[in-house]
Amino acid sequence: MIGLIATTAAGRHGCDRLAAALPGPTRVYDGPVRDVVPTAFGDCDQLVLFLATGAAVRLLAPLLSDKRTDPGIVIVDEAHAFAVALLGGHAGGANSLAHQVADILGAHPVVTTATDSVGLTPLDALPYPVEGPIASVTRSLLDGSPVHLRADAIWPLPPLPVLPDGASPAGGSPGVPGAPGPAAVSAAPPDPAIPRPAAAADLGGSGLAPQGPDDALPSPVAGTAIPGPAGTSAAAPGSPDVPAATPGAPGPAAVSSAPPDPAIPRPAAAADLGDGSLAPQGPLIWVTDQVRPEEGVVYVRPPSLVVGVGASKGVSVEEVLGLVRGALEEAGLAERSVGVMVTVEAKKGEPGIVGAAERLGVELVAYGAEELKETAVPNPSKAALAAVGTASVAEAAALVGAAGGELVVEKRKSAMATVAVARRVPRGRLAVVGLGPGARDLLTPRARRELTAASVVVGLDQYVAQIEDLLRPGTRVVASGLGAEEERARTAVAEARKGHAVALIGSGDAGVYAMASPALAEAADDIDVVGVPGVTAALAAAALLGAPLGHDHVSISLSDLHTPWPVIEKRVRAAAESDLVVTFYNPRSRGRDWQLPKAVSILAEHRAPDTPVGVVHAASRPDERTEVTTLAGLDPRTVDMVTVVTVGNTATRTVAGRMVTPRGYRWQSGPAAPEHAEEK
Ligand code: SAH
Repeated sequence: MIGLIATTAAGRHGCDRLAAALPGPTRVYDGPVRDVVPTAFGDCDQLVLFLATGAAVRLLAPLLSDKRTDPGIVIVDEAHAFAVALLGGHAGGANSLAHQVADILGAHPVVTTATDSVGLTPLDALPYPVEGPIASVTRSLLDGSPVHLRADAIWPLPPLPVLPDGASPAGGSPGVPGAPGPAAVSAAPPDPAIPRPAAAADLGGSGLAPQGPDDALPSPVAGTAIPGPAGTSAAAPGSPDVPAATPGAPGPAAVSSAPPDPAIPRPAAAADLGDGSLAPQGPLIWVTDQVRPEEGVVYVRPPSLVVGVGASKGVSVEEVLGLVRGALEEAGLAERSVGVMVTVEAKKGEPGIVGAAERLGVELVAYGAEELKETAVPNPSKAALAAVGTASVAEAAALVGAAGGELVVEKRKSAMATVAVARRVPRGRLAVVGLGPGARDLLTPRARRELTAASVVVGLDQYVAQIEDLLRPGTRVVASGLGAEEERARTAVAEARKGHAVALIGSGDAGVYAMASPALAEAADDIDVVGVPGVTAALAAAALLGAPLGHDHVSISLSDLHTPWPVIEKRVRAAAESDLVVTFYNPRSRGRDWQLPKAVSILAEHRAPDTPVGVVHAASRPDERTEVTTLAGLDPRTVDMVTVVTVGNTATRTVAGRMVTPRGYRWQSGPAAPEHAEEK
């Protein structure tokens, strides 16, 4: 719950606005702040105080105990000009709350945690539990001194400017902040076996014919890396989820030699590390589910362990928990890497099992006895077969839950319970992200989040350029030139299959004449896929033109590079006959100039010459140009590859220079029909 506290009328108004707009539960506290702040501090996960920072600090200071458990605190000033993340920036979520509050109130978010100010992935905000000297390793990352990453397996982690385990920082040039270093390590060299289409000057769509010298086919660019905050360019293998063994992996070559600031105390250095073998390497982040003796290491605990549990009726929570903890400890496995507890259907309501899963903070998943019966296990039991219809619960459930993983702890028993542990194979994550038509404020917040969560970003070079400044240090960028769509799709899926968090980007919506289809046609069910919708060119253009899409409409690509012209013509004819508003994508390029006039002439067979037509070039970009003309008046020379053309239907009118397609013919002529009543 988010607590809202104010002392003035302006503050109370702000509380009301936040209470109405924040997505989660909120509570507005009334009364003297001296009394309500301590109460709210105890009740809430987060607080927004409409107070001066000084007053807030004095009230809060005696209440603080631990940044991992204290609520996140955001302060807003009387004029609602600033939303300041005061306490609990990461663990308390105050940084993101400050952004949310600022969005709602029209204030500026003020975030001062170092990682956020330089765009570095905060170690304490990784999606998995993290242990160890987080502050000192973060300091090394911020300073640009080399931090190595070791990973027992690749998990879909956000980017970090780290070096693969064992790599020594090569000379390289001093990092220039903002400039990718020369360390571009090829991540996806062009596959000579993949035929490159004839120079297609497309915006990521189905391809356009050459546009002239500018369209000379750029060669696919190898993987480059976003440099670290102090100019460290962690090269391709330096993404945080590089597995331990990267034999022969090329070393990153553009590590900053920026000297550490002598005024800043250095983190516990390499020599302090418990294990001699680590000493020369310096700070280390280790993604592992194993409890290790090495000190001075930041351990990231992936949710790799699947704990299978069986029990007799009436087993206690303590017995199950004791058995699970004993098994993990003996095997040297970290409790925080337990991702899920699994059992057989018949036991999913057993209080001892349910309670143990709750205490471990993991979900309890149950499988049917039929499914478990099919699973080969090392230690089957006749008693279990008689009781629940499968010869194994703990081992079989653990193996089923691990979906192709291996058993790491065989069945162990206590008086009333059994436990076994399996390790699952990580699943990579592919986010297919639409960037919108160009303008930064038409990029959705969700798309932004996905871009910063991906350690690998794959896309057309011009789209990468559009969002490169948003990418976090350590992101591996695999940009390729026009036309290399299949290769991009394949690369994105292959990287996700390795376990990485990948973002495949495209303009507008990445599923509209774009990369989602070839990528998902390649993808099997061994990766997670997330689609992030984007504002399409058709929608961006429509908003500029007025309301041309107010009734049934269709988009048709006029590119016949991948679709035979007769098919396109048939669709244009069908749209003409059914009086659909039509948006033409890929309407015209230098090498493809007759298709648009032809398509327009087909529509003109069914629509009056004065039917409104909208031409939008470069919607939401600096060279945006909008024109409302007519079917008869359309000059194809005003149309190029960065244009969409929207042709109205027979009811579309031009009103005050804007295209307006009426919602419905009946509705227009009579009183509002009931089904329209709620749509004001
Ligand atoms: N996925 C994109 C479409 C890619 S196809 C989307 O959802 O919008 C490429 C075509 O989109 C271009 O030829 C052009 O017709 C259109 N297009 C893309 N961006 C545009 C923009 N900003 N303004 C106008 N048309 C655009």
